[in-house]
Amino acid sequence: MSFPARANPMSHWLCVLVQTPAHASLGSVLSYRSESTLAAGTLVRVPLGKRETLGVVWDSTSTHATGELDPGKIRAISGVLEGIEPLNTAWQQLVTFAAHYYQRSLGEVALAALPPQLRELTAVQMQRRLRRRPAPPAAAQAIPTGGDGAGSNAAVLSDEQRAAVAQIQAQRGPFLLFGATGSGKTEVYLHCVQTLLTEQPQAQALVMVPEINLTPQLEARFKARFEPLYGADAVVSLHSGMTNPQRLKSWLGAHSGSARIVLGTRMAVFASMPTLRLIIVDEEHDPSYKSGEGARYSARDLAVYRARLDGAKVVLGSATPSLESWHHSRPAAEGGRYLRLLMPSRIGSPAAAALNANKANAPLTLQQTTRAAAGTPDGLPLVRRVDMNHQPRNAVFSIPLLEAIKERVARGEQSMVFLNRRGYAPVLHCTDCGWKSECPHCSAFRVFHKIDRTLRCHHCGFTERVPRACPTCGNPDIAPLGRGTERLEEHVAELLADVRRPGTVSSQYPDGEPVRVARIDADTTRQKGELQSQLAAVHAGDVDVLVGTQMIAKGHDFRRITLVAAVNPDGALFSSDFRAAERLFALLMQAAGRAGRDASLGEHSEVWIQTFQPAHPLYAALKRHDYPEFAATQLKERAQAGLPPFTAQALVRAEARTQEVAQAFLNTASQTARADMALWDGWADILEQITLYPAVPMSIQRVANIERAQMLVESPSRSALQQFLTAWQAVLHAVRQQPQSSGMIRWAIDVDPLAI
Ligand code: ADP
Ligand code: ZN
Ligand code: ZN
Repeated sequence: MSFPARANPMSHWLCVLVQTPAHASLGSVLSYRSESTLAAGTLVRVPLGKRETLGVVWDSTSTHATGELDPGKIRAISGVLEGIEPLNTAWQQLVTFAAHYYQRSLGEVALAALPPQLRELTAVQMQRRLRRRPAPPAAAQAIPTGGDGAGSNAAVLSDEQRAAVAQIQAQRGPFLLFGATGSGKTEVYLHCVQTLLTEQPQAQALVMVPEINLTPQLEARFKARFEPLYGADAVVSLHSGMTNPQRLKSWLGAHSGSARIVLGTRMAVFASMPTLRLIIVDEEHDPSYKSGEGARYSARDLAVYRARLDGAKVVLGSATPSLESWHHSRPAAEGGRYLRLLMPSRIGSPAAAALNANKANAPLTLQQTTRAAAGTPDGLPLVRRVDMNHQPRNAVFSIPLLEAIKERVARGEQSMVFLNRRGYAPVLHCTDCGWKSECPHCSAFRVFHKIDRTLRCHHCGFTERVPRACPTCGNPDIAPLGRGTERLEEHVAELLADVRRPGTVSSQYPDGEPVRVARIDADTTRQKGELQSQLAAVHAGDVDVLVGTQMIAKGHDFRRITLVAAVNPDGALFSSDFRAAERLFALLMQAAGRAGRDASLGEHSEVWIQTFQPAHPLYAALKRHDYPEFAATQLKERAQAGLPPFTAQALVRAEARTQEVAQAFLNTASQTARADMALWDGWADILEQITLYPAVPMSIQRVANIERAQMLVESPSRSALQQFLTAWQAVLHAVRQQPQSSGMIRWAIDVDPLAI
């Protein structure tokens, strides 16, 4: 920061992006003076009101400053962040696209994409950080030999893996790697990254994962593979679990090019990587790629866009792709834009082994024959549906499922039981007067947590001790209604109370040790490191039955789990959210992917589904592990109903003191659009393609005493929707200023919303 701020008649005008409060009258692109001309992308400090803030110099030919333009009032920048190269053009284009597409200001998107410490550090502190930075990789640094990574810990690829890698190398993409759980997708990623880094000594790769805490193994595998080859600074992480200094360090590494691989969550899609050549999006279907606040961007969709800007390849990987990506990867002749790569077999499964050994005619074992009759692909667990209509009423565990779990215990194997609801019971109620544990601030029930005897609202956080008696009638007998993971854990322990672990007789346990039941969910993993230690206990075999939420269904490579059970998954079949079935199928397939990952146990691994709808097509497709069939059915329904991916959607959400105000705001904006915008030149055609639905309360209408409403906007044309939203913003701003909107708190647009 050697730049003196000095009035100078010869000074240059700059457009600078700054972070202004959302919806402030001041725009986010402001004009400043500078002594010398500065390249677009340069990081600067600028005065803003009474403070000084971080800004990014923007191309003044493509942007117009929205703030003060009186030449006499234009202030000088305070200084340049020396030693940090300007952000490159591709990065600026990515930010511009994201801001336009997701209907946010340029400044907000750009500044949110930079590490917080860039904003906070003083010039002196920054200089110190920069000096500590590692030197860029020397050309002479260990370069691995051979594409297969001889000398490293790389595996010899299976035929399916080799075919996928060859396609990725030969074609332009984008690629959708559709590979069964355990088919070795990660190994394909590692291989592609390794080939790239070997062939192009400057190239960088971006590897994105949904939630790094849930997939520590992936991070570990990348570090183990590449740190020995390129040094400890070559692999950096970027995610919200890091401290601000760590994030700055990673960001600087990526920006300077010294980091060759960036591993991160959705925020990493904005990492500045000047020589980005490959982007991997693992578990691309995962909803956590969509941001839930601010600019509600989809990091997966932006990754595809970014790859084009940077001239990089992009690989989306999943065993259960999003229906959007699946649809995009239909044959090119039908309009598909992505190349679909298939890896149907699990590593180490008999089919894969036979293929690899080139003995496809080997005779089948008895077990393989039974599984084949059930339509189970080799190496994948057998899916069993339990018809709960034929089980005792109110049974949580059917008799055969309980028996199957006991069998696992007897064999020293592990079982995993999941239920998508944490807490002890979702509601506490009074059997006399019908009182229920409603949250006073939300239109939702407070959940009963037995461990600390609290009623907790999962929406606003409001927590109270459980009352001794019914607050309305004084009846001391208030009872839990329904079941969460905490109660399930207790129940499993009761059911298995007299079962003993084999071979554990000792003086302390003359009959053998009791079964060990553990639970993993958001409540048991609040403290840093708790999840890691609990996962370690499962891996070490210290747990016989693991109970949990979808947290345990994702990503973990549990070797000794041979039974996975979903005790009550039916809810999603009847949800009003049209994506609920897609999410349930993905979740159950992911959960199934946890079973039998150890090849020697794969053949007797099972997934149990307790259901009142055993004939439901979703479960039938699941039984055959047939994602393509499930996807085809869903896409047909969506096409008929005019839902995504066959139509583009956006939601406008409004929050206000009353539901009436929130809805009136949306409805007025909608009427104004129809009445006024239709008169604009050339707009009749665009409006014709736009459907504005009436405002409705959100499914949880009130949270923390704020009323919430939403309006769906739909169009068969994505570009018509974009144009409409961009123009409609002005209308929404104007309606917000009208007197009848005085109870309004905020509004926001969500483009391509995931939950409606
Ligand atoms: P996915 O990401 O598709 O679920 P992984 O890449 O995690 O699958 O692979 C599953 C398991 O198989 C891992 O333990 C991995 O180390 C192993 N594996 C992957 N590829 C190979 C290979 N070519 N040879 C031997 N083992 C492999
Ligand atoms: Zn009562
Ligand atoms: Zn609440």
